[in-house]
Amino acid sequence: MPHSSSILRNASLVNGEQVDVRFDGSRISHIAPASPPSAISRGELDLQGYLLLPALAEPHAHLDKTLTLSPDVPFQSGKGLEGAISSWHRARHHMTEANIYERAKSASMKLLHHGTTAIRTHVDVHRDDDPLRAVRALIHLRNDLRDVMNLQLVLLAHWDTSEEIFKEAVRLGVDLIGGAPHMAPDPVRHTERLMKIAETFNVGTDFHTDEHLDRESTIQHFIRLAYRSSTEVVRHTASHASRLSTVSSFERQRIIESAAAKNLGFIALPQTNLYLQGGNQRIGTPRGIAPINDLLHQGSAVAAGGDNQRDAFNPMGRFDPLEIASLVVTASHVEVKAALALVSSRARHVMGLAEAPSDRNWLLVKQGQQADLLAIKAKSIDQAVGESPMDRYTFHKGQLVARSHLRVEFLFRGR
Ligand SMILES: [Zn+2]
Repeated sequence: MPHSSSILRNASLVNGEQVDVRFDGSRISHIAPASPPSAISRGELDLQGYLLLPALAEPHAHLDKTLTLSPDVPFQSGKGLEGAISSWHRARHHMTEANIYERAKSASMKLLHHGTTAIRTHVDVHRDDDPLRAVRALIHLRNDLRDVMNLQLVLLAHWDTSEEIFKEAVRLGVDLIGGAPHMAPDPVRHTERLMKIAETFNVGTDFHTDEHLDRESTIQHFIRLAYRSSTEVVRHTASHASRLSTVSSFERQRIIESAAAKNLGFIALPQTNLYLQGGNQRIGTPRGIAPINDLLHQGSAVAAGGDNQRDAFNPMGRFDPLEIASLVVTASHVEVKAALALVSSRARHVMGLAEAPSDRNWLLVKQGQQADLLAIKAKSIDQAVGESPMDRYTFHKGQLVARSHLRVEFLFRGR
């Protein structure tokens, strides 16, 4: 069971204020200037030296594939996305429901202790006589973790996935319809079909969109078919959007504006796209990352995620969204504060879990918010993202659900 800790003392906010924070159930009921130093009472947590932030979020994972990198499921260097897919397809029939559950749980626990209380994972439809075993494994995991995090499932359908499979997946409890229209023989028809299915089941969509650098773009069909929901909640999301990084600036702006008119969400995935795209282009190697600064400038709903971690698609990844924020700064030239928001409150917004803050201050913890928080031992956002300190407390709905402390000892003379 999670620990209760309803009063936080001496925490620093991103605006420099030092405060005491009180929870009332799952919400932040009170934030006040830190009271004068005194003994910390039972049930209170002293956060002197800690920065209090919105909890981290992982808006695009593949928990069913994660931690499978092995001689049986190798990464095929230089063969890009297609090489990774063929490697995965050859080996995935070995994956049982129990095996998928255990790996997904291991990755989720790492994300949780790093401060992540919301994960959106895509989940494969297997091409054999048990196509939905990964869906069942992850729904089992969602039930087991329901007290500590929000777990959303996106059905990663093939272009020929049957109606019966969609129906059964929704009945089992997947939250969104997904797919990769750019991989289908007819991307327009596939996009139309997926959108129609999502409409039938009244669920949102999150597509792997144009995860390539030079083929025909498909995103305009997605934008055309997307509808804007009556609220600010993001209903449809384009993950990857790698192709947007290589179209002309005129074309890019036209697409970004039309996507913003539909409140389409974007999820940039720097680690996997840096690895999968451009490997065969040794001069002027492209990066393949959605143009985050342009999307931010437009006011789009945009987030960043880890995507594949330690599997045939990407051999690296520490299951720490701060690693992704750091990559966003380095590879996409995004300002540090904005990069952190992409893996926390902006990610929650794209996931439909929170509205955009009216003051656009994405990182300031405020009264009335759901108490999903990360307290991290850092003096500034620069330090939090740059050093990724391991001293952290994670709160979900007002409950302390994970804590970690790093112990360092120097064992030499003359220090
Ligand atoms: Zn993906």
